[in-house]
Amino acid sequence: MKLGFYPVLGKSDFVRSKGKKIPIWQLLEYQPVGWLYSLAIKAEIVPDSPIVHDCGSFNYRDQDIPTLNGKYVDAYWSIHRYRERSKVGDIIVCPDHLLVGENIRERQEYNLKQAETFIQLAKSYLPNRIPLAVIHGQSLSERLEVAKYLLGLGYRHLGIGGLVSQAREYSINLHIIKTITQVVRSLIDSERVLSKADAMPVAGVAIAPLHEPNAHLHVFGLCSPQYAKAFIQMGLSFDGSTFIREGLGGGMFVSHEEKLIRIPTHCAPKCNCHVCRVLNRHRIDPRLTNKGRTHTMGRIAHNLNLVISTYRKFTPKKKIYLVAGCGKQLSYPAAAKDLYYSQHFQACRRYVEGQNSRWYILSPLHQVINPEAIIKPYDKSPYSLSHKERILWAQQVAESLIQVASPEIEFVFLTGKLYRQEVTPILKAKGYETKVPMQHLAIGQQLAWIKKELEQEKQLVLDI
Ligand SMILES: [Zn+2]
Repeated sequence: MKLGFYPVLGKSDFVRSKGKKIPIWQLLEYQPVGWLYSLAIKAEIVPDSPIVHDCGSFNYRDQDIPTLNGKYVDAYWSIHRYRERSKVGDIIVCPDHLLVGENIRERQEYNLKQAETFIQLAKSYLPNRIPLAVIHGQSLSERLEVAKYLLGLGYRHLGIGGLVSQAREYSINLHIIKTITQVVRSLIDSERVLSKADAMPVAGVAIAPLHEPNAHLHVFGLCSPQYAKAFIQMGLSFDGSTFIREGLGGGMFVSHEEKLIRIPTHCAPKCNCHVCRVLNRHRIDPRLTNKGRTHTMGRIAHNLNLVISTYRKFTPKKKIYLVAGCGKQLSYPAAAKDLYYSQHFQACRRYVEGQNSRWYILSPLHQVINPEAIIKPYDKSPYSLSHKERILWAQQVAESLIQVASPEIEFVFLTGKLYRQEVTPILKAKGYETKVPMQHLAIGQQLAWIKKELEQEKQLVLDI
């Protein structure tokens, strides 16, 4: 399941033009990672994207016995519905009940019981779907207990629910979400390390760093830009329907820096965004209210597009790190990452290995080296190259890098000037972003910078 924003799907998410239905996702400039589709509605059209199928608990929150359209909602009923409407790879959410009203204890018992049955049914009847169970609790410690119980049942996708009613309590909610995320991830990590240790009882076998988060968490119903930014940084997914609610109520979104501001349509300036330009060609004006649902849906599409493009800015750019292969070398062939054994090179290596990104070594002899490649020691420094040779070298380096990098990649140079000054202009001319975080720092200062970064990373892991 991908991290990011899953907009809530509506009953009829299309605009009409010349008798044709145009789905709102076809109007968008960027597609969302997926959609959330509730069992409480039946959508006329459904996108061919990953979908989180939700049981619609918000709709029956006031009923102690949960029903949708007169049917009792439980694991069996929901599995039947999901079987009708889900596709391979979709997420299916176990029926849950919000902990509100008089019968909180009974509701929590219902949640735990459904979770136990649902995962068994999912394994038997929908093995190609991903079951997700929602953590509810009245306190953080109760939520953590429930999270552990659900992991024990075998769930690896967990939802965090019941926080919408206190959405304004940003710091409290974020603390709850961060703690659950940290505990769930560390429980899974320790389980993995243990099972690896069981499989390979050889002393001294290094365990590979765990880069991929192995449990996924989804936050239900919180989607303001402030939350979105935090969730994306934490690697979570989340959903929301504010763009619909505001659109229906006659509100147009405009973005201001990282915020989304709702403006009543009669005050909204004419918008020239991608969606509004397309709508204009179909003679649809998202600023019109009470003139039929097509204009309203146009406004909802405009709002959604703005939400998605605002949240895109929160997604960190993918990076490729470049380290200079320089300084002392071993006297025998070795993996490039080990061959250069100077303190500076190895400090850079430790830093880039912690970044969860690809990295390469720049070498005056080999141009661009994969750190795992076995190479022989050699004697060539960038100082030994003439100006002309260095220009040629830079061209070869840039060409090799462009071959392994998609256009949205950012190159981060942890190298001296000689290793980058002719390379970066070529990359920039091809549209790549480049960064030199240690520019103007002397060698000793560079080492101090790396040390500080490594310590901050450690702190970040502890904080989350
Ligand atoms: Zn617009």
